Amino acid sequence: MAKTNLFIGLLLTTGALLISPMSANAALPTCNSAASDPDADGFGWENNQSCVVATNTRSTGSKPACKSSTSDPDGDGFGWENNQSCIVSGNSTATSGKPTCISKASDPDGDGFGWENSQSCVVGTETAVEQNSSLYPYNINSPYSAMIKRCVLVTRPNDSCLMNEIPFLGMVSVTPSVDQIMDRVVVSQDWMGERFRQILSLAPSSLLVMFRYTSAIVIAGETERSYYWPVNAAIWVDPDYLWLTKAEKDTIALERQGKIDPNTGLDFNAVTLYSASGSSTDFSLSAQSNYFNNRSFNEVFFASNQVLYHELAHAADFAPLPSFANMNYAASIFDAIYTIYGDRPSYEIQTIYPNTSSTLNKIALAFDPDRNTVITDNSIDVLQVANLFWRSGAISMYSHTTIEEDFANLVASTMLKYEYNFDTNVSFYTNPDSAIPNCSDFILKWGVRNRLANPVVAQRAKWAVSQVFGPSAELDDFFANRLGEESFEQAGRNYCNN
Ligand SMILES: [Zn+2]
Repeated sequence: MAKTNLFIGLLLTTGALLISPMSANAALPTCNSAASDPDADGFGWENNQSCVVATNTRSTGSKPACKSSTSDPDGDGFGWENNQSCIVSGNSTATSGKPTCISKASDPDGDGFGWENSQSCVVGTETAVEQNSSLYPYNINSPYSAMIKRCVLVTRPNDSCLMNEIPFLGMVSVTPSVDQIMDRVVVSQDWMGERFRQILSLAPSSLLVMFRYTSAIVIAGETERSYYWPVNAAIWVDPDYLWLTKAEKDTIALERQGKIDPNTGLDFNAVTLYSASGSSTDFSLSAQSNYFNNRSFNEVFFASNQVLYHELAHAADFAPLPSFANMNYAASIFDAIYTIYGDRPSYEIQTIYPNTSSTLNKIALAFDPDRNTVITDNSIDVLQVANLFWRSGAISMYSHTTIEEDFANLVASTMLKYEYNFDTNVSFYTNPDSAIPNCSDFILKWGVRNRLANPVVAQRAKWAVSQVFGPSAELDDFFANRLGEESFEQAGRNYCNN
C-alpha cells in the first residue's frame, strides 16, 4: 500500500527509472470507499488489490452547519457566518475547486477555509516538509508564487494541487515563453534560476514547447538526480547540470556523480556517449562534476538540453495531451494524469513497435547504479548481449530498464540529433580487473555509432516524437533525409584516447 510500491515512481534520467515494480499496463482502480485508505496516503486496499482514493474525498472537518443557504453565494457548499466557515446543509463536498486564499487573515477562525472576493478559499498552511525545504519561487511576482512550493513538495496523490491552482503550462499557452516557464521555477539558490533562464533563452523552440506538459520545474541543491514526478507533473532538474564555477558547485549535493554499480555480477558494462556527427570524439551529456571545478557554458548548455528533453519526454508521456482544451480545472493534476495512465505513448509503442527482452531488461537493471540487482548467471557473454541489444529497437541499454525510459530516450536522442546533429553512440566494454583502474583497463568489445540511424530504432523514434510534437513536416524531413548511417566500432581499443 505504500506509495513507493505503486504507480508513483521516480522517473530518472541517466541511470535509473521508474522505481515501481508494478507492471506498466496495470492502472489502479478508484477506491469505492475512502475508508479503504486509513493512513490517508491516497492509496487504499480493496478486493485484494490497491486502489486510488479520489482526491475529492478530503475531509471537511468539523464545521458548523450554515443557518442560511444565502451564506454560500458561490454554491460551493461552504458558507461564511459569524466569522467562520460553515457547511451548507446536506453538502459535504471537499476543498476541490476552491482558490487558495491570498491572505491568511481571511481565515480568522483558523479552520483552513477563508473568505475572499465573495467566495470560500483554502488557506495554504505550511507543512513540516515545506518549512524544512530550502525551496522558494524564483520569480516572487509569478501568479503561482503563493502555492507553487506547496504544489511541488506534495508526495501523496490526495495532496496533488488542483489545475485551477497551477494548471499545466500547456493550458495557459501552447507555445510557452521563457517568462511563462520561469514563472513555474522553484529553486534553492538564485544562481540556479539565473542559469536556467540563460539556457532557456538560447534553447531551440522544440525544447520550450515541451514545457507545456509540466506544471513546475524544481532545481534544488539537495537533488542528486533529475526526475519527473507524476503527482504534480513537475520535473526535478539536478543542478549538477547547471553549475559553472566552484562556488556554484559547492552549493549542491554531488553524491551521485560518477557512480557505477560495482556489483552487477557481470564482467562488462555499456555506456551511452554522444559525438558531433561523423566525429570519433565522444563526450558525455551526463551530470559530471567530481573531477572539475570550472566548466564552460557550452558544456552545461548541451548537457542540460539532454536532461530537459529526457525529463520533458516523461512529462509528455504522462500528460493528458491532446485534452488540455477540455480539461476540468477543478480536478487535481494527479487525477488528470491518472485518467489517461493506460493511454501513455510509452505503453502504446510497445504494442505498435515492441521492444521487450527479459534478458536485456535484467542486464539493464543490473547496470543501473540506483538499483541493487545482481546477475547470477555467469554464462552471459558480452557479444551475445551486444547482438541482442543491436537487434532490439532501443537507442541505449538504459532504455531496457522500463518502457518509460525507452520512450524518453528515443525522444531525447532524436531531438539532440535534430537540433544539434549529435550522434548517440553505445559501447560495450569489459570491466577492469584492477581495483584502481585507469583508462587502458577498459577494453571495447562492441560499439555502435549513430544508433538512431538504425531503421528499427528510427521507426520507433519517429513515432515517439510524433506523440510529443504532433504532425511535423520538419521532423518527417529529418527522418527521411538527415539521419545519416549507423556504423560500428573497432573492437579492442581502450578509453585512453577518448
Ligand atoms: Zn528517465
